[in-house]
Amino acid sequence: MNAAPEKPVRQDDAERIVRAAVEDGRLPEPLALRLGASLQDAGVRQAILEGAAESKRRGKGDRVTVSRNVFIPLTNLCRDRCSYCTFAKPPDSPEARTYGLDEVAEVVRGGVHTGCTEALFCLGDKPEIAYRSHREWLRERGHRSTADYLVEACRVGFEGGLLPHTNAGILSADEMARLRAWNASMGLMLESTSRRLRGKGMAHQYAPDKEPAVRIRMHEEAGELRIPFTSGILLGIGENEAERVDTLLTIRSLADRFGHIQECIVQPFHPKPGTRMRYVAALPDEEVTAWIGLARLILGPEMNLQAPPNLAPEVLERLLRAGVNDWGGVSPVTVDFINPEAPWPTLVELRRRTEAAGQKLVERLPVYPEHLEQADFFEPRVREAALGLADEHGYARVSDSQEAA
Ligand code: SF4
Repeated sequence: MNAAPEKPVRQDDAERIVRAAVEDGRLPEPLALRLGASLQDAGVRQAILEGAAESKRRGKGDRVTVSRNVFIPLTNLCRDRCSYCTFAKPPDSPEARTYGLDEVAEVVRGGVHTGCTEALFCLGDKPEIAYRSHREWLRERGHRSTADYLVEACRVGFEGGLLPHTNAGILSADEMARLRAWNASMGLMLESTSRRLRGKGMAHQYAPDKEPAVRIRMHEEAGELRIPFTSGILLGIGENEAERVDTLLTIRSLADRFGHIQECIVQPFHPKPGTRMRYVAALPDEEVTAWIGLARLILGPEMNLQAPPNLAPEVLERLLRAGVNDWGGVSPVTVDFINPEAPWPTLVELRRRTEAAGQKLVERLPVYPEHLEQADFFEPRVREAALGLADEHGYARVSDSQEAA
């Protein structure tokens, strides 16, 4: 990565650079680094936002997607201790919870009943390594690892009528291959390529699974296995501007090499009570939207760019103007267990605000049409099930009564 400080650009240079990027499709690396170093300038930010909106329009038209899902936090035990996390709990916490298969089946039934298509399995990273009680819990049920158990849970989700999408932290190639048998897509936020964040006092000091090289390798292995894959960047956890640009360029390179990156999430950090980073300020909204715009210009018009609507409810329209074309998963059944303090908007409200911003809300499956049309990305039975839930364009088939709900 280029470690030398970049020379900032002025507004007129930024306008010229952005215009060229929109015409050529994507920002070249040196110019991405220079724009990334210039976001304190309101004129530069404005140039980026205008270019990003045009790039999104060229790649996605007026379409903005959302996945109607259920969120299943299979276990909130985790061997890592990220400084900003409130999801992970130790086994002696009254809030520690691992779902039984009957509980998974019950949530899935609720999802099917409310027209969901996705079962989002989200869980802590390899808790069996840290906690003997969890190892015993798994052994009593005939499993040697959380990943083994997760395969079973995904089977229950799939057979119950939903399409699993798994986000389980670092998985081996063998584990991903076994999960692929029941999953439509999988994901791992790259978060950041900054190795500094693993240093003393930094956000990932106590999180071995946040080692960037390990996360990049898992992205590569998912590509080799032909798994539609969600990645993303976490903004504001101690990384600098050049490191943010490097993270986005790394995601672009992975997408180019393997063709499996189906979407990139841009997620801002928010300080939470009870965490080591509770006093660290979040990035201001205008910086978050500028980074979303820059992500659009770096990743290009075809990339699906996602921002969670519950983490910035005041500025949804500005997120759309910054080039976002996807709201991620929104559930009529379950809360966002990662950010339980941030309720999702209802789909009706999200549709109203998306349309008020001149865009059209379309429900999608956990996997996007671009990948659904490529059969080699799926276990045949999973693709068959996905096609059964899709309309003729590869988006989710939605009844009139669902649309109003
Ligand atoms: S790896 Fe994920 S669940 Fe575990 S502590 Fe970090 S953010 Fe929390």
